[in-house]
Amino acid sequence: MKLQNNILIPDWAGKFSIKCGFTTPTYGNQALTRKCRSGTLADNRAQLCKAIGTDPNRIYAPHQIHGKTVLTADETNLGHGAFGLDNADDGDACITKQNGITLITTWADCIPIILYDDNTHTAAAVHSGWRGTALNITAETVQALLADDPQSAPSDIWASVGPGIRGCCYEVGDEVADSFLDMGSAVARHVTKRDGRYKLDLQSVVYEQLIQCGILPNHIDRSTLCTCCNADPTFFSCRKDGRDIFEGQAAFICMI
Ligand SMILES: [Zn+2]
Repeated sequence: MKLQNNILIPDWAGKFSIKCGFTTPTYGNQALTRKCRSGTLADNRAQLCKAIGTDPNRIYAPHQIHGKTVLTADETNLGHGAFGLDNADDGDACITKQNGITLITTWADCIPIILYDDNTHTAAAVHSGWRGTALNITAETVQALLADDPQSAPSDIWASVGPGIRGCCYEVGDEVADSFLDMGSAVARHVTKRDGRYKLDLQSVVYEQLIQCGILPNHIDRSTLCTCCNADPTFFSCRKDGRDIFEGQAAFICMI
């Protein structure tokens, strides 16, 4: 992954006719929130679209609810969630087969994922917090990418996992830890116990889920940055910023 124009871009992105990446706070708050300190959401998203060369009126961004609903963006719902919550659809992942639609999910410690199927030319953006990860929204989204076309295979999919909270910072209670300890050894090894407290490497769990879906390791570009403790670049972080403020970065993908 490389930082270009203050956007983290997956190494594989340049192979395809797509624009995708993960913003840094240079682009201000990108999340659908009523507490936006850094400019307005419309201005911030317009700034992002200008930087990547897409149309801000053709954004699709769900209202994220920590579930496993995968939405489909097309001409009928284009613009939902583009500039505010009022017309946003509830869901934590979205896919599209149409060129020119910028899919956006947002995060501040949760895990952002970008997916692209180069066989069917289908794109997806995912938000996976601990609840969404426990529900395996990543697998739901991969299934949605494969659903329409019998020729599709996981080996056609390219994936990128952006910065998110890791075991260094993410202390969780017994109930959260138990839900991941029950998911098999590949996932359970990312739950550790130190001084009687559990730490969860949520970002590594999402990576394991992609592997379990059959995505090829050499098709996955993964950031290893923790949003909570990493200073370069500095990220919005729910844990660091506190619960009264919610601002986030964008994960975006647009096929051109
Ligand atoms: Zn950390």
